Amino acid sequence: MDLFEKAAKYTRPEEFRAAGLYPYFRAIEESDGGRRVRIGGRSVVMAGSNNYLGLTHDPRVIEAAQRAIARYGSGCTGSRFLNGTLTLHEELEERLARFLRKEACITSATGFQTNVGALAALAGREDVIFGDRDNHASIIDGCRLSFARHLKYRHNDMDDLGRLLGETPVSEGGARLVVTDGVFSMLGDLAPLARMLPLAHEHEARVLVDDAHALGVLGAGGRGTGEHFGVHDQVDMISGTFSKSLACLGGFVAGPKVVVELIKHTSRSVIFSASMTPASVATVLACLDIVEQEPERRERLWANVRRMKAGFQEMGLEVIDGGSPILSVVIGEDRATMEFNRLLFLEGVFVNPVIPPAAPQGMSLLRTSYMATHTEEDLDAVLRAFRRVSEQLRILG
Ligand code: PMP
Repeated sequence: MDLFEKAAKYTRPEEFRAAGLYPYFRAIEESDGGRRVRIGGRSVVMAGSNNYLGLTHDPRVIEAAQRAIARYGSGCTGSRFLNGTLTLHEELEERLARFLRKEACITSATGFQTNVGALAALAGREDVIFGDRDNHASIIDGCRLSFARHLKYRHNDMDDLGRLLGETPVSEGGARLVVTDGVFSMLGDLAPLARMLPLAHEHEARVLVDDAHALGVLGAGGRGTGEHFGVHDQVDMISGTFSKSLACLGGFVAGPKVVVELIKHTSRSVIFSASMTPASVATVLACLDIVEQEPERRERLWANVRRMKAGFQEMGLEVIDGGSPILSVVIGEDRATMEFNRLLFLEGVFVNPVIPPAAPQGMSLLRTSYMATHTEEDLDAVLRAFRRVSEQLRILG
């Protein structure tokens, strides 16, 4: 068969478009601080970003990025390994390692690349990776590329993990790695690190936590899921992204010096892909200042999340609160979820519909997420829109 003919058989997006339900690639024309955006001429409250601290439009952050461009230029045109290392990258890596209380850190151009490169660098054919079944796609791909044996345990099920660890020997020279999202990106629930870490260590496995959604948000100092559960120092390695609360683009992995040394010299994402742009590095540094100096931002974020959870529950909607700034409203059936999403948008609210395979069968949901900078007015507008659409679709009694 011709390859293009094969591509033409992929019609699912067109089916959603034909039904007027297509919710993807909605182009933002203008943004008011990230909390409100204009799409297709319509102003909507953005309740579907990962801009948890609302820092993308902070004047201090923008100024730092502008200064970095003026000083270092618009891009590095090479990888960290060769010509793409600036003193600014080194400053960020030292700063992040200090912040995360790890010995060392290495950045790459995205969080996705970081996970793929780090996992493939760390694990090989003789090793076994134990991963949560719902881990992020970048972890799954990293496991595949590593050629290690990849065993999946049931989502957040420590008995299942314990069973697998107990019944899976490694060959001599082989090592074990447990890898998990700290906050799972769709349901927003947290990995049970307080149980997982001792369990893994008991079985001589190291643990890598991808804290993409937790950095800057969870824990008293914003250090992530480990800090939230009071076990930060036992987390062996942390990976993450700068594309969420740190308001730009890039990723990192932090851990012991020997591990970072290995990743720096063998991760294909570090060696064969260009380094973070100067503006992105400066953005992260400015955001880290704010994360450290303004804990009240996290408090505002949590107050907003509590207000929304209470609002949804009062309305009688089923809301999943996993302990993060992500609240998922369960609608159930795929088409109803897409229709709910379409109507919400017309009512002035942007959220993300999640259908299988990203959500379990029959449990399609609307993933909503909040920002420290959402105003009460923004949040009330979201709740009002949910109520109106629920009534329209007779989801509420
Ligand atoms: N890990 C997790 C858990 C994520 O949710 C994401 C982003 N969706 C990534 C990694 C990838 O990060 P990035 O956007 O920097 O590629």
